[in-house]
Amino acid sequence: MQLLDTIIANKCYGIRNLFQITMWQDISKIGKKLVDHGLVESHFGNISVRTQDKMLITRSGMALDEITEDSVVEVELKGTSGLDLIASSEAIVHRAIYKYTSALAIIHVHCQFAVTLSLLSDSDSIVPVDSEGQYFLHEIPIVKGGIGTPELAKNTARALAEHKGAIIYSHGTFATGKMLEEAYVVTTQIEHSCAIKYRFDLARK
Ligand SMILES: [Zn+2]
Repeated sequence: MQLLDTIIANKCYGIRNLFQITMWQDISKIGKKLVDHGLVESHFGNISVRTQDKMLITRSGMALDEITEDSVVEVELKGTSGLDLIASSEAIVHRAIYKYTSALAIIHVHCQFAVTLSLLSDSDSIVPVDSEGQYFLHEIPIVKGGIGTPELAKNTARALAEHKGAIIYSHGTFATGKMLEEAYVVTTQIEHSCAIKYRFDLARK
């Protein structure tokens, strides 16, 4: 009944719009969870979901723990449009990932241990030392490229075609899934494995 009221209130009808109404609420829920669990500071990340040939993505400058219906924007997957101006500056990376992988949801956050380990690593990937990380992630690729550049978009999409998550060097994680909850679990797994490895390496010195 609450959902029906929401549909009427938004003057939206049809399955596609119904999907989008629930999607911004899912983005909001995951955004708050990311911040509440200390995976990211409010403004350091972005979230998207695929909606057929488009994606719903958080707008530039939005606090992830205060997302409302107005905090997200729907943009084309096939190319940029005027709405890209208000979308996250990292929409270009999300677009490339949807284009070249089977992902339906993406979470990008600047989590601390993942960023730290990418800076410390002298290889192009991080191999978890904890058994869960080894089982679920195998390895975490580190990709390079400037924020919002085609180079970063291409490198990230290429890495995520074969991995659930990747770390952008000196920047943050990108995690994918069929649903946002799945991308959230991948994000937490990457950060957990990086935290364990950082402490393990430190303790052995
Ligand atoms: Zn970022």
